[in-house]
Amino acid sequence: KERNGHEPEFLQAVEEVAETVIPYIVEHDIYYGKNILLRMVEPERVLQFRVCWIDDSGEIQVNRGYRIQMNSAIGPYKGGLRFHPTVNMSILKFLAFEQVFKNSLTTLPMGGGKGGSDFDPKGKSDDEIMRFCHSFMSELFRHIGSNTDVPAGDIGVGGREIGFLFGMYKKLRNEFTGVLTGKGLSWGGSLIRPEATGYGTVYFAESMLKTKGLGIKGKNVVVSGSGNVAQYAAEKCIQLGAKVLTLSDSSGYIHDSEGIDAKKLAYVMELKNVKRGRISEYVKKYPKAKFVAGKTPWEVKCDIALPCATQNELHESDAKMLLANGCICVSEGANMPSTIQAVHTFQKAKILYAPGKASNAGGVATSGLEMTQNSLRFNWTREEVDKKLKEIMANIHNSCIEYGKEKDGYINYVKGANIAGFVKVADAMLAQGVV
Ligand code: NDP
Repeated sequence: KERNGHEPEFLQAVEEVAETVIPYIVEHDIYYGKNILLRMVEPERVLQFRVCWIDDSGEIQVNRGYRIQMNSAIGPYKGGLRFHPTVNMSILKFLAFEQVFKNSLTTLPMGGGKGGSDFDPKGKSDDEIMRFCHSFMSELFRHIGSNTDVPAGDIGVGGREIGFLFGMYKKLRNEFTGVLTGKGLSWGGSLIRPEATGYGTVYFAESMLKTKGLGIKGKNVVVSGSGNVAQYAAEKCIQLGAKVLTLSDSSGYIHDSEGIDAKKLAYVMELKNVKRGRISEYVKKYPKAKFVAGKTPWEVKCDIALPCATQNELHESDAKMLLANGCICVSEGANMPSTIQAVHTFQKAKILYAPGKASNAGGVATSGLEMTQNSLRFNWTREEVDKKLKEIMANIHNSCIEYGKEKDGYINYVKGANIAGFVKVADAMLAQGVV
């Protein structure tokens, strides 16, 4: 706390892990007295750099770029790039720390990292995005590589940005390698990668519901966000016969009591991914729905909640409201969307609650599958990738049960995910000595 007191999000992420992992360390001699968690919270390397680019009016703009290389005990650093004005060291260190545990849980050989910039892609032209991405990569390329560090997308970084970043990396290095994931299909991308985080979040919810003899079909679902993760979480819910009632962005949420069906979702995808519009425009197209400005969807009655927007978007009061409205399952698509108090509220009520590092790991897992396909110079079919994604999510769920089942039978998914993720990384670090 003394060293990182000015980094609240990072402290929050560490506190959540420490709550469950420290008691485990104390009970296990092989980890006790080795300062293993102290070593894990210190990034192996932190890079910060200047990103200059010229906007459409000819003015020179300056942003700050980052890459946190958190832990490489079990594989090359792996984790997304976020472009958002709120990006700072605290946010990226929290994301990189979570990534270490998440990547370990996938069972694939990936270390943890995260990066990005305080650049705001909103309202920028395609040319401006390209110039920014090229400038960003003109520094980052020195520090990454297919066996060193393999970035991917996150908030504000989708297929368009990955394309521009990859183009500049290839030019500077003069090599075509799997240095980024989330690539386009014709140049090294994997089928199902865009869908993977959202689909995986819903597969995880299915596994949780199954422990209670329940399914997704017929359930009312509220989803927050309307970006990559939210769109595909909604798509999978619709495919499985659930009713998706909400989507949101940073201006508010839309509530469609008739349900957002496949056709309406196709409209949202066009609106957000092609026209780069706002979710409020949904009600112009579908006037029976309403837009609630400045609020989050947690006040809508539901069975299942899927927070898929950003960190700390679900507070204790929201958790209480969800419970009062009968919500039985929360599967996080975003990273750390629930505050610690909200998490405790869900756990006290003993509802099904999965932290993002378990339930949203399908994205990075499929990135891992993209890396494998790049190494093999081979592409798996859609069905093959989806099958592997399902298996990985089921394995993560099993690991959570193995390490998280309490004496009364309640599955503490936070404890399960933290300890299962920790054990693999800690064992590798101990085997490799004090480095
Ligand atoms: P996108 O940029 O595609 O979408 C982000 C969505 O969240 C947008 O609807 C955005 O609204 C909303 N949002 C962002 N910041 C805020 C905020 N401060 N308050 C309210 N809403 C906000 O990002 P992704 O869908 O890729 O990422 C969403 C979450 O999922 C993040 O937490 C990310 O770390 C996590 N995640 C993503 C993975 C992936 O594969 N993409 C993998 C694992 C986790 P607006 O347009 O108004 O900003």
